[in-house]
Amino acid sequence: MALIVQKYGGSSVADADSIKRVARRIIETKNAGNDVAVVVSAMGDTTDDLIDQAMSIDSNPPAREMDMLMTAGERISMSLLAMAIHAAGSHAYSFTGSQAGFMTDAQFGAAHIRAVNPDRVRRALNKGSVAIVAGFQGQSERGDATTLGRGGSDTSAVALAVALGADVCEIYTDVDGVFTADPRIVPTARRIPAIGYDEILEMSSCGSKVLALRCVEYAQRFKMPLHVRSSFSHRPGTLVLPDGVDPNSLPNVR
Ligand code: ADP
Ligand code: ASP
Ligand code: MG
Repeated sequence: MALIVQKYGGSSVADADSIKRVARRIIETKNAGNDVAVVVSAMGDTTDDLIDQAMSIDSNPPAREMDMLMTAGERISMSLLAMAIHAAGSHAYSFTGSQAGFMTDAQFGAAHIRAVNPDRVRRALNKGSVAIVAGFQGQSERGDATTLGRGGSDTSAVALAVALGADVCEIYTDVDGVFTADPRIVPTARRIPAIGYDEILEMSSCGSKVLALRCVEYAQRFKMPLHVRSSFSHRPGTLVLPDGVDPNSLPNVR
């Protein structure tokens, strides 16, 4: 049985119908005989909306309170997604970053992951449930809520995949994979079927937001295979594999 970590970005869970669609996809992966742990981002523009709300009260809010506020976005999506899985006849537990064992430093707004101890996630998987983890967040040594920086759910997903020893980390988004340029801006951009960590690291460090920079660094360091693909289709995406790994050895590639 393979263990798959799936990350769904905000664009994939923007409204109730999208959450139900994602729930069906997770159940499909589970019913194909895989264990599935999911990392989810906040719905649509929720994080931006929370920042606007904070700014309307204080243009220079305390960093600790800002992180406390920002972690609320992923709590909404994780619990709604667990409910959608339940409503579709399967079972899921949702976990905040701290419940999922994400320990970070105390650099609010740009915290670094120090350790991931996903015991509760593992227990949920062992019971045959889907585990849903809030992306982008963790807990400092003092027990304060922290966030990893914008786009940080990608990093949460890879860190969880590494801690669980997953076979692949699938990053679901609103385009069919990694393209030669942003396909929303450059209509002639082509999907790249397979790419190395170094090349995608370069794209991320040049500001392409398809994958967060730290996520790629983490995946490269721990040789975690990535599959970037669309949550809106079943078309093939982009594989990022360590040297020597046969693409056909990965679960859920079709
Ligand atoms: P998510 O909500 O899934 O995290 P993001 O908005 O963070 O999604 O990232 C996906 C977006 O990244 C795409 O909609 C696309 O416009 C943009 N993008 C920029 N550069 C690229 C690229 N080279 N390949 C694919 N997508 C890209
Ligand atoms: N919700 C956070 C953000 O908008 C994290 C993420 O989506 O990866 O930056
Ligand atoms: Mg993103």
